[in-house]
Amino acid sequence: MKSLVLAACLSGAVALAAGVEPQAPAAPPTKSSPMDTIAEQYVKLVLAMGQHDADYVDAYYGPPEWKKQAETSKIDLDAIGSRARTLLADLDQQRRTGQPSAASGKSADAEMLRLRVQYLDRQLSALSARVRIIKGERLSFDDESKALYDAVAPTNPESHFQKILDQLDKRFPGSGPLVERYAAYRKAFIIPRDKLDSVFQRAIQAGRQRTLQHIKLPSEEKFTVEYVTNKAWSGYNWYQGGYHSLIQVNTDLPIYVDRAIDLACHEGYPGHHVYNALLEKNLVRDRGWIEYSVYPLFSPQSLIAEGTANFGIEVAFPGKERVEFEKTTIFPAAGLDPSRAAEYYEVQALVDQLSYAGNEAARRYLNKQIDATQAAAWLERYALMQHDRAVQRVRFFDQYRSYVINYNLGKDMVRHFIESRGASADAPARRWAEFEALLSSPRLPSELK
Ligand SMILES: [Zn+2]
Repeated sequence: MKSLVLAACLSGAVALAAGVEPQAPAAPPTKSSPMDTIAEQYVKLVLAMGQHDADYVDAYYGPPEWKKQAETSKIDLDAIGSRARTLLADLDQQRRTGQPSAASGKSADAEMLRLRVQYLDRQLSALSARVRIIKGERLSFDDESKALYDAVAPTNPESHFQKILDQLDKRFPGSGPLVERYAAYRKAFIIPRDKLDSVFQRAIQAGRQRTLQHIKLPSEEKFTVEYVTNKAWSGYNWYQGGYHSLIQVNTDLPIYVDRAIDLACHEGYPGHHVYNALLEKNLVRDRGWIEYSVYPLFSPQSLIAEGTANFGIEVAFPGKERVEFEKTTIFPAAGLDPSRAAEYYEVQALVDQLSYAGNEAARRYLNKQIDATQAAAWLERYALMQHDRAVQRVRFFDQYRSYVINYNLGKDMVRHFIESRGASADAPARRWAEFEALLSSPRLPSELK
């Protein structure tokens, strides 16, 4: 997805969408360490939460009997909360007395083990917070995002966005509201419905090719695209396990040309599909870390998932390379005028700077300072979303709440982390290597600092 300017796409994946079996479900771990026992209990708690919260379990490809168990035993929310607290205490105990060779060592392996403990700790705290939210407790927007995603988005006043809008205003002179002038301009960049699939397939192929030049993927990996309607999101990656993703694209609203590369990279290569496949390969299968076979949507893992998926777009198609590829391949495939590609992406770069306006609308709306109509109006004015898209976005706020920060703040945090390791845009090979390392590790938001 294109940050928050377009309707969001959720990450992750539901296991076992109807009729689709993973090729090789993860086996339960054969030998158990205390950490493996905690990990197993964590997976079972996440599955138990899924019985109370339909959006919670985004992906699961661990032992199928654990899922059946969750369905039949249907543990109540208080019991889930109390089990989470017990597991947090067990983890704390591990941190102090267990993990010995790991925590004291200096090897890369020791670091991975330290991150494993930290990961489970944050994920379990988020699970406890989600229990409280499902039980009716209302946190402020920032407290909620901190509790669920381990991060707080910056606050920006209207004047911050107005400066960007003023620049766009000069680009689109006229008398009506800027959002309408921008919408009129953008009409020339809609991908016709009958060309959508072929355009997406080209973008996916190119994203895959570029990714494979730098990241080795399991040979069985594959990726299916479906077109759907009537959703609060604009795209979704449902990871199936067995290195297979099902990607759904919502066609409720017009799809602009920038969406092709964004979707291909965000949902696919090197975004969610690659992230999930690398976690399955490196953590679940190679290390037997079963906690990665489940993906709770409302958890810090989502900030990493969305942040890497969004940053991955520019890792695969940095600045000028993207414009060149759009001009030579995507625009012609969509039947659009290639001579306008460069100009279109200049405008998009400006509009992208409005992405935090979406967080601002969500914060005010969820903190009950404005109602749904005002939130949509705010998005139209400050995020330049056309009315229908703004309404769709408010539906997203209702369903997913502070999840919105994961896209743009997540991207900025991932960029900052990768650049702080000496991997900037002018060192592409290094940047890919750092990106892959992040996708293959249990690092969470507070570990990006
Ligand atoms: Zn996503």
